[in-house]
Amino acid sequence: MRRILFLAGLTAATACSSAPAQPARLLAPTAPKLIVALSIDQFSSDLFEEYRPVLLGGIGRLSRGAAFRNGYQGHSATETCPGHSTIMTGSRPSRTGIIANVWYDLSQSRSDKAVYCAEDERIAGSSSLAYTVSPYHLRVPTLGDRLKAVQPVSRNVAVAGKDRAAVMMSGRAVDQRWYWDGKTFATDLKGAGMPRAVTAARTAVAQAIAQDRSALQMPALCQQKSRVVSLEGGGAPVGNGAFARKAGDARNFRASPEFDGATLALAAALIEEMQLGRGRSTDIISVGLSATDFVGHSYGTEGAEMCLQLFSLDRDLGDFFRLLDSKGIDYLVTLTADHGGQDVPERKREQGVPGAARVPASLFASAMGKAIGARLGLKGPVLYGDGAFGDMYVDRALPDVDRTRALAAAVGAYKAHPMVEAVFTHDQLRATKSPTASPDKWSLVERARASFDDQRSGDLIVLLKRDITPIADTKSYVATHGSPWDYDRRVPVLFWRREMEASDRTDAVETADIMPTLAAALGLAVDPRSIDGKCLGAIPGIACPVR
Ligand SMILES: [Zn+2]
Repeated sequence: MRRILFLAGLTAATACSSAPAQPARLLAPTAPKLIVALSIDQFSSDLFEEYRPVLLGGIGRLSRGAAFRNGYQGHSATETCPGHSTIMTGSRPSRTGIIANVWYDLSQSRSDKAVYCAEDERIAGSSSLAYTVSPYHLRVPTLGDRLKAVQPVSRNVAVAGKDRAAVMMSGRAVDQRWYWDGKTFATDLKGAGMPRAVTAARTAVAQAIAQDRSALQMPALCQQKSRVVSLEGGGAPVGNGAFARKAGDARNFRASPEFDGATLALAAALIEEMQLGRGRSTDIISVGLSATDFVGHSYGTEGAEMCLQLFSLDRDLGDFFRLLDSKGIDYLVTLTADHGGQDVPERKREQGVPGAARVPASLFASAMGKAIGARLGLKGPVLYGDGAFGDMYVDRALPDVDRTRALAAAVGAYKAHPMVEAVFTHDQLRATKSPTASPDKWSLVERARASFDDQRSGDLIVLLKRDITPIADTKSYVATHGSPWDYDRRVPVLFWRREMEASDRTDAVETADIMPTLAAALGLAVDPRSIDGKCLGAIPGIACPVR
């Protein structure tokens, strides 16, 4: 397979600077010097288990640490922003406040009523599409925020393919935060200056995008998966792609293994330039690897494309860890995902899931609102929502009596639809207790409760049936996630440190358990009442606090 040489090229270009003088020391004598928190966007446990036997690079290495195959992003709104908000905060979306990628605030005066999870809509000119990146909506501190509060010399750094991944994993007390903005690596931090690592990464990526890219060579396993599948909804067939692209095609760069290669190279170069893990206190770097998600959305999860992506990412992660090894850094890695995903329904049907289907356009909130408006004689959009499922909001411009009628009509219409599993109202979720059982046992209403925020959640929450894909038009994205089903909720949770004994764990845990577990490794006290997760016991080398 042809190598993509971002890692080698970038790290050679960064010169060593001496470690900063640090008066602080480790909170616990056994604490690692660097926490590396990795999120692979859309990396379901289904994919992890399918590929685990053949991934012998970085993912293979982590699989031989403490490997939980039954990790859960337990909430129902299995999207990127909520998922990333759980990983480093120890909290579910109901506590982080990040209930979706986009929600609606019908009380705001701007014409765009949608709110992007990582924007600050108080800033003039911000909209949900052209927004000002900010952690404004995150209601809780991250591990980095907590560590820096007691050890200000610790560094908290984030690099990601998406702004929301970088923001939600790092929080507010952040030294460097860089994310892909569609064209290049950018930051929302003012006055932080541009590290040489970023300048080099920007140049390397610009050069890569400016050139034609020939098809990647396929490992034998991916060749076996290479088969054309036609799609409903007007999109091009998928299944046999190998990431060839024309010069200047930044969109397809993003949906290719090179994107993660570039993100990891930037992370490695920042570690080197900032001397992370070489001072006297522990540093944290969060890395959001987004290409798996763009590949999944563009091609589905069971074709040659995802196969190539995972082999490439595994190899790049192996290179990344070897680089840290060569510097002699004592690092603790955690790897998880913000949510899982499911394959295109056309291929799922071929593979024995007869009920797999796409929603009709009539199921989208905008179309439903129009239909209800026509039936009840109401003006305006009636219903606001970001698609065919999730949080939906009844127009506040309607008189109260009409809002009540519209809500009843919407609940009734969705409940009656054969592709809808359940509809919960705001009042119903407010009256539901947060789940306390293990996340594999949560009922549907408990999953929805874990995504609920009294201020931000919709008037109704629509959950689609299993194996339903909420994409009708396949000309852009063809597959997605966001459901309360385990293909979207179940993700790997891996911990690895040199000389950690391997343990293969089948117990069901939450991604909210990651932060308190890392805090225990650092010797950092966390008030258990301030989070939803718990320190994971019996991980070799990590001692949970005794209560
Ligand atoms: Zn995602």
